[in-house]
Amino acid sequence: MSDEADLIEPARKLFAGPITFLKSAPALVHLPDADYPEVAFAGRSNVGKSSLLNALTNRNGLARTSNTPGRTQELNFFDVGGGGGEPPTLRLVDMPGYGYAKAPPAVVRQWRFLINDYLRGRQVLKRTLVLIDARHGIKEVDREVMAMLDHAAVGYRLVLTKADKIKATDLAAVTQATAEEARKRPAAHPDIIATSSEGGLGIPELRAAVLEAIG
Ligand code: GDP
Repeated sequence: MSDEADLIEPARKLFAGPITFLKSAPALVHLPDADYPEVAFAGRSNVGKSSLLNALTNRNGLARTSNTPGRTQELNFFDVGGGGGEPPTLRLVDMPGYGYAKAPPAVVRQWRFLINDYLRGRQVLKRTLVLIDARHGIKEVDREVMAMLDHAAVGYRLVLTKADKIKATDLAAVTQATAEEARKRPAAHPDIIATSSEGGLGIPELRAAVLEAIG
């Protein structure tokens, strides 16, 4: 973990600098060229992904808070760092939320196609951060996504969200249970990051984890 502690300050600086929306990709043909390292964010609808991306980047409107099941399924790309003619340090990829109640099978299928298309052979994708609601822990639909990532051999890390909503003892228990499950998965990072977009818990560590992921 000492490596990651060393990255806290460089990561803070990186995320305090330029961050710009690059494009939305509703299908493979729209993906940007694979020119820079990418770190993706995935999670169930309402897990707090938009809030976390906004906290991570210190910008309120970067990721739209959703709460609209069935809204357009697209990957959103953001350039982090660079600017003024310099290339970005990395790209954040906001994946469409999955697993909302009553999603029609066609929508679920479309999500799988889009994500599998993206995962397949995307060498620049360095890691996916899979967000898990700290109140609920890992759900079956999260396991399906973890299995997709294991299968595609895309490294991923589990990040607990909304940590402020539960007691410290419960957070410790869910963190431990989540880590135990992560250790059994082939492509999962063994360490869990607990975050809160409200209180800011874990945000510096998450920034460092993004920087660490691009190695
Ligand atoms: P998304 O669908 O995954 O993008 O989730 P949102 O970011 O839109 O968040 C869903 C709901 O959870 C919203 O009402 C947020 O205000 C709330 N929320 C998100 N993150 C946190 C958090 O860290 N703490 C608390 N208390 N609420 C949060």
